[in-house]
Amino acid sequence: MVMKMKSWSAALAVCTALSFPVAGARADLLIENVTLIDGTGTTPIKGASVLVKGDRIELVSPTALKHEPGVEVVNGAGKFLMPGLIDSHIHLGANTITEDNFKEQRQVGVRALHGYLYSGITTVFDSGNVPDYIFGLRDEERSGKLLSPRLLATGTTVNVAGGRGGGPIRPEGTPNSPIRLKEKWSESKPVVEAYFKSRKPDVQKLVIDRRGVFEPPTPIMSVEQMTNVIRLANENGVRTTIHAASEEDYNDALAAHIDEFAHVIRYPASDALLKLLATKKVPLSSTMIVFNYIERIAEDTSFLEAPLFKASVDPEIIANQKGPERQRYMSSGMSAQFKITHNYGLNNAKKVHDMGGMIVAGTDRGWGPTLHMELELLHGVGIPLLDLTRIVTLNGAIYLSREKDLGSIQRGKLADLLLLNADPTKDVKNFQAIAAVYKGGQKIDFSKLDIPANRK
Ligand SMILES: [Zn+2]
Repeated sequence: MVMKMKSWSAALAVCTALSFPVAGARADLLIENVTLIDGTGTTPIKGASVLVKGDRIELVSPTALKHEPGVEVVNGAGKFLMPGLIDSHIHLGANTITEDNFKEQRQVGVRALHGYLYSGITTVFDSGNVPDYIFGLRDEERSGKLLSPRLLATGTTVNVAGGRGGGPIRPEGTPNSPIRLKEKWSESKPVVEAYFKSRKPDVQKLVIDRRGVFEPPTPIMSVEQMTNVIRLANENGVRTTIHAASEEDYNDALAAHIDEFAHVIRYPASDALLKLLATKKVPLSSTMIVFNYIERIAEDTSFLEAPLFKASVDPEIIANQKGPERQRYMSSGMSAQFKITHNYGLNNAKKVHDMGGMIVAGTDRGWGPTLHMELELLHGVGIPLLDLTRIVTLNGAIYLSREKDLGSIQRGKLADLLLLNADPTKDVKNFQAIAAVYKGGQKIDFSKLDIPANRK
């Protein structure tokens, strides 16, 4: 009975809004008669309508809405509308950016960002980069100067001297220095706090990697050091994520109250740990493709010829991946090691998902098409496609603390939308059947993207 009352009042509110439009508040965009996949993982709704005013979603209706004058109407018949995709773990420039070259490398980043838009991705989180580079691009994106997905970043990561897994190596004592904790927190705290206040990282990444299963041990932060950093970040309104590798690393990070993880554990993990992660709903960025990519490229580079790659990634980058980068992956032993650990990671992702945990789509790569490869891997291990529609949208927004504004098609949220020509809940390839991409209600003009598809 109470439920009925509630839906009545909701219906009345909708009617009122439609019958008496406020003067001047013109609706900008109406996508109608579309199958709505709203990002929450609930059953798609056929024949739905979504009304966008300005940059926000004004109304979501399971049925037709009245056409207001001046509204741009998009006929969604035969199409599927979902939130824009979110990649929760990228490195713009794919680790080629250094403190010395980042100014010349701007265009590399811009082109990659355009490739993300072309791939249906409207938000990315850069999980470690040269701060001046990534925050410079973030400023350009936020001021509207740069055509780009929403760009969120950590900038530098927090580690200890000699710790591994910290990403690009940069000298200490410069504006782009990595943060390397000293033994005494009183010595490190001012440095860390100054970073939070001056750079305003969207999420702060820490790194502990005491060993891969196959590598010698390296120094890591203590639980106490991590606890101090995480508490300070949270006090400054910043969530924390962490690169962790082994089960001990994960347990230490949990003991220090980490908010989330930058990878799914890719080594054998106990059911107790996986259960704990699932029960606490700790978000885990999946990043299966980084391992799969490096493993696969040793044997077969043909995936770099896939249509989405060729359309959106520069031929020089593809040639570099097929040549020197492939050699580096093989000679460093990475390809061979990732081949061994590949199934552990995917199985852990599936187990956590099945236990009710929060898997978030992330790639640890620098190009849009890899997010689609990530979805293929997660689906390949048995995660249902409808669940993936949430893993790559709302779960990403939660990982980034942006769920109030992003990640689902719900009233009041930003209108970051992906219109597809085919049903992504029927075939994982259909996430690539892109008809249109909207960021904040604005349709992305694909002809303006600096990508190979436009340079013929
Ligand atoms: Zn990474």
